[in-house]
Amino acid sequence: MSDNNKNTSQICVIIGASHAGVNAAFALRKEGWKGEIILYDADPTLPYHRPPLSKAYLTSNDDIEQNAIKSAQSYIKDNITLQLGHQVTSITPSESCVVLKNGAQQHYDKLIIATGARPFIPPIQGLQTAKHVYPLRTAADVTHIKSAFAEQDQKRVVVIGGGYIGLETAASIKKLGGDVTVLEREERILARVTAPVMSDFFQSLHANNGVDVFTSKDVTSIKPENTHNKVICADGTEYEADIIIVGVGIRVNLELAEAAGLHIDNGIRVDHCTQTSMDNIYAIGDCSNHYNPHYDRYIRLESVQNAVDQAKTAAAAICGKSPVYNTIPWFWSDQYDVKLQMVGLSTGYNQIIVRHETDATKFSVWYFQDETLLSVDAINNAKAYVIGTKFIKDNTKVDKTKLLDSDIELKADNLKLDNS
Ligand SMILES: Cc1cc2nc3c(=O)[nH]c(=O)nc-3n(C[C@H](O)[C@H](O)[C@H](O)COP(=O)(O)OP(=O)(O)OC[C@H]3O[C@@H](n4cnc5c(N)ncnc54)[C@H](O)[C@@H]3O)c2cc1C
Repeated sequence: MSDNNKNTSQICVIIGASHAGVNAAFALRKEGWKGEIILYDADPTLPYHRPPLSKAYLTSNDDIEQNAIKSAQSYIKDNITLQLGHQVTSITPSESCVVLKNGAQQHYDKLIIATGARPFIPPIQGLQTAKHVYPLRTAADVTHIKSAFAEQDQKRVVVIGGGYIGLETAASIKKLGGDVTVLEREERILARVTAPVMSDFFQSLHANNGVDVFTSKDVTSIKPENTHNKVICADGTEYEADIIIVGVGIRVNLELAEAAGLHIDNGIRVDHCTQTSMDNIYAIGDCSNHYNPHYDRYIRLESVQNAVDQAKTAAAAICGKSPVYNTIPWFWSDQYDVKLQMVGLSTGYNQIIVRHETDATKFSVWYFQDETLLSVDAINNAKAYVIGTKFIKDNTKVDKTKLLDSDIELKADNLKLDNS
């Protein structure tokens, strides 16, 4: 065990108490950190899971506490000081301290930056001043959306952005009884992250559930009417909206790290054990850009898996171990009764194989770069996801002919190339 673990006078400060920060705090205790742990977050709410915000939580009457990452008692039990409603305004590495908005200073021996991201609000004329316009990133955003929805007589909801968050939100609001339209600027939804076959699948899924999804719609302005807004697109089309939800991506919270002089490059650049360009400062989760040995390049991910796994890596490194962060990214999305599970990164693919099963509700899309399997998107098909994960991790060569044949059972042994 390293000195860090034994030393009760050392302080680890964590900025950001969400998936990355909270998991880092508890992982530090598991690794044997004996010193103080102080976790700051500007959000006053007990840290909660974000994925349900656009899914089950949006349609339920649950309290946010039912959605907490850890109970309030867990922090007390593990002697973690949770400072909610406290924004950190600067980091001074030369003095090993952070400064809070209220002027207070806090010394650290180790610092973990887990500041994540905030919604990007695009420069659409009239958007900033229009009524009933909401992003969806925090529990407070969901509260605002729900109360605006309850107040409106007509419930015409326009979602700007056809990415996962926009589409999940559209499905949830439809379930609540809204009249939902999604406007996507690209020629197809999910264009950045999936193959056209998946975009088509989700487009039809929404149409079949009564949600209008329009693509090639560049929203240029919002015009307030008496009781609602008009959403106006570059092609001259207009959509009436009682509520507008903006889901066009995020901006990484990098300002603190940048001002502190850390190396920034599409996120806070970190090494194999999540350490930044400065000693004793680590960065994890959505705000960090790490080297992924499997894909042999730097990547910045926006996923719970990455936040949790990097948290464990940072804790191990801080406690004197020599971890190497090397995981295959995975992600999921729930829309209506469809569960999508994705593993790997499809960037650079030059072939896809779509495998159908005898059960027509299940299929999977396998992305290859020549003979290398890069990623798998599995629709209602946990088996495909599990096999895909194993194959990607082990660099297993896949027999593509067998993969295509739905009469051949989906089993790892059936799909390996004989010589792999
Ligand atoms: C609606 C929604 C649905 C999602 N669905 C999925 C999904 O299905 N699957 C999946 O894998 N991922 C999903 N994600 C993404 C996932 O939630 C994020 O990848 C994850 O939250 C990243 O965790 P993080 O701790 O790095 O950052 P964040 O969750 O962004 O947390 C950062 C925290 O830092 C705090 N903070 C920032 N700056 C300061 C400061 N200066 N002082 C104090 N506090 C500060 C913020 O208040 C925030 O609480 C979803 C996200 C959203 C919004």
